[in-house]
Amino acid sequence: MKVGIVGSGLVGATAAYSLVLRGIGREIVLVDQDTPRAEAVAADISHAVPFSHPLEVRAGGYADLCDSRVVLLCAGVGTKIGESRLQLLSRNAAVFAEIVPRVLAEAPDAVVVVATNPVDVLTHLTASMARAAGWEPGQVLGSGTTLDTARFRSVLGQRCGIDPHHVHGDVIGEHGDSDVFAWSLVTVAGMPLARFARLRRVVMSLEARQDVESEVRRAALAIKTGKDSTYYGIGCVLAHITGVILQDQRALMTVCAPIDKLLEVPDVTLSLPRLVGGSGVIETFRPSLTGNETALLRHSAKVLRRAIAELEKNR
Ligand code: NAD
Repeated sequence: MKVGIVGSGLVGATAAYSLVLRGIGREIVLVDQDTPRAEAVAADISHAVPFSHPLEVRAGGYADLCDSRVVLLCAGVGTKIGESRLQLLSRNAAVFAEIVPRVLAEAPDAVVVVATNPVDVLTHLTASMARAAGWEPGQVLGSGTTLDTARFRSVLGQRCGIDPHHVHGDVIGEHGDSDVFAWSLVTVAGMPLARFARLRRVVMSLEARQDVESEVRRAALAIKTGKDSTYYGIGCVLAHITGVILQDQRALMTVCAPIDKLLEVPDVTLSLPRLVGGSGVIETFRPSLTGNETALLRHSAKVLRRAIAELEKNR
């Protein structure tokens, strides 16, 4: 089972390393405009193979993506401190205008997973190019708020003193400033978070919840302040999504994908709970939110619609 990765910078390389450590796939092909970098990353990661799982890791060109089951798009630039993900748009849209047609032509049976920011808008762009090339609607998705959801569960798990695997709660909407914490739907041990927190004598007041939100929102900035970029978390997210697709796991994840209309906002791409399997996105679920959460999600959809419209105007 071949996995292609376009962009072998920090995110693409860490995704490849996570795949090897977890034994996901059989062959990884790294493509980058900087060929010596792709070759160096492939060689370095292949030296971890004797200590992990039998995957073949190599650098290649677009033609080497043929027969890939999954292609991860990690090429482009990242945000600098103080810059929003949406400000990256025009630079990374130009990169995608170059790479996406080549991926679509070489790997028509793959599921394409976008990681490059702004991930929602670039997933929208990739999906519309894929649709025009005759691809199935579910075949393109983005990592979306999967990482934000993981951070949310992890902070809640720490506060409640439990393993985050047992926290069920999602961040939806934009992977960015307008993301929405679906507090009303968080459950632990089959009970609403408020009840579980009371039993554990953990304060979950409005103030405590705002504190959790800002800890999750500040996570990327805090990491970048210490070491310039984030890649371990997203590398693991991408390996996980790849495993879900390769093994047709039918997992529920907050990936982003296009939706015809959400809360009166037409033709937008954002994260919602989605069923993901071997063919990509199988089904999208519209959660039952409170009035306030619904208003926040509508706002997030409008922010993204405006960014998509801006991109479409300049294409
Ligand atoms: P990086 O600069 O380390 O790597 C980017 C790579 O893309 C480089 O190797 C570069 O040569 C390659 N590239 C650029 N243009 C190309 C082209 N036209 N064709 C082929 N290759 C090309 O950056 P990074 O830290 O790996 O981040 C990559 C992207 O991932 C950024 O947009 C960043 O914001 C995003 N990211 C997303 C998430 C998420 O949750 N979705 C998290 C972290 C980073």
